[in-house]
Amino acid sequence: MINTNLDNIKNVAPARVAVIGAAKSGIAAAKYFHSRGAGVLLSDSCSRERLDEVMRDNGLGDIESEAGAHSEKVLESDLIILSPGVCSDIDILKSAAVRGIPVWSEMELGFRVSSAPFLAVTGSSGKSTTVSLLGSAMRFAGFDAVVAGNIGLPVISVTPDLVGEKAVVIAEVSSFQLETVERFKPKAAAVINLMKNHLDRYKNELEYYNAKKRIVENLTFQEFLVLNMDDSILNGWAKEFSSKTKIVMFGHQDNGSDCVFLSDQSIRYRFNGKTGVILDDVGKMKLGGKHNYINACAAGAMALCGGADPDRIALGLCDFSGLPHRLEYVADIDGVAFYNDSKSTTAESIECAVTAFNSKVHLIAGGKDKGCDFSVIKDAVRANVKSIALIGEAADRMFSQLDGLVPVSKAADLQEAIGKAFRSAVKGEKVIFSPGCSSFDMFRNFEHRGEVFRDTVKNFASRKAAV
Ligand code: ADP
Repeated sequence: MINTNLDNIKNVAPARVAVIGAAKSGIAAAKYFHSRGAGVLLSDSCSRERLDEVMRDNGLGDIESEAGAHSEKVLESDLIILSPGVCSDIDILKSAAVRGIPVWSEMELGFRVSSAPFLAVTGSSGKSTTVSLLGSAMRFAGFDAVVAGNIGLPVISVTPDLVGEKAVVIAEVSSFQLETVERFKPKAAAVINLMKNHLDRYKNELEYYNAKKRIVENLTFQEFLVLNMDDSILNGWAKEFSSKTKIVMFGHQDNGSDCVFLSDQSIRYRFNGKTGVILDDVGKMKLGGKHNYINACAAGAMALCGGADPDRIALGLCDFSGLPHRLEYVADIDGVAFYNDSKSTTAESIECAVTAFNSKVHLIAGGKDKGCDFSVIKDAVRANVKSIALIGEAADRMFSQLDGLVPVSKAADLQEAIGKAFRSAVKGEKVIFSPGCSSFDMFRNFEHRGEVFRDTVKNFASRKAAV
């Protein structure tokens, strides 16, 4: 059943492809194969009505599909494309393995059909910001750079048309996508950091880290592995892989070998036998926050590996103004600045948010309880926070872990929490909404939560202005 044409998939589509999961990347893969004349089966565990709606909305009404479960029909294909939201160890995929049917993530597919090299970024936190900084740096350096992958734009929807000497794909890669790679070989691969995450999907931390490790699988001394020198596990990876590929570290110091590092306020490099400055003052970046300066080091290191000129990298790093819902400035009310950090869903993200500025902040946090240990932020709270207002399911547990460090209160909803934070703040101070929890107790997703925060603050600002 294995179709040897898969080696030549750029030019010849397999006869029959099953796509499991009808979300963004699955739909993009289905469209790709359908437009190239392959028989496509779209298989999703959602309801028939939902699947019909998704297929209609995406102009896929005439392909074969199955809803509610993944049947043996999936096994009639030459190739299976697996959406990141679906576990790679479900029964139908075990049967596929027995029959030798390849199972690829849409990332593997996008890579296989691409003529352009990939610069790939993974990690627990900071991926989207880093790929965006890197995309900006590469564009300023004269490359035709497209940012895709986990950030929201499926790679297969961009790679077939991305041609030319200067074309490059900047790919945000999740551990889920890495579970089903085979030949994925980026020109450079960065791992920003490793923190406990996704323990609902993986048996333990090690299994999660090992999924991330697959980004290294096909690297050789023609490629680069870019790692965070401030992360103890990634330091271990640097040693483990130094006999396999070229290692470039990034972080807080010059480690004497190839690296990009923060020195006072500047970003410097040691690379390919040269040393120099990428950016003389991180204060010139539109993006604030200490963690973002580290993300800029990672992006700088990747851009050097991608062949960019250091001076041009600086222009790109400074031009990028940040992604929505990540420490996003919203408004100023009576001299109090409000920031939306709704993307924050872990205790570590709260720590990043409250330590980002060189001033004390008023924190609004809470949401659906994922069981995070909030005691890890105690030092950061003592040093950087003036008051805390808590919302959502996690409010009681967070209260018991944080009360006594600073004044902590609970609020019935986000609106009440905003009012409490505002009343605690004085002119010149900041209010940051960094939930440190997921959003599903009160909102559809983190974007919805951030929009509600933004709208509430803006309404509040206009009411104050009208008084
Ligand atoms: P991801 O795409 O990995 O989820 P984002 O760039 O969207 O990461 O950032 C999400 C949140 O992660 C940010 O709001 C911030 O709280 C935190 N974060 C960003 N960069 C870092 C970093 N280098 N180290 C630790 N946390 C970070």
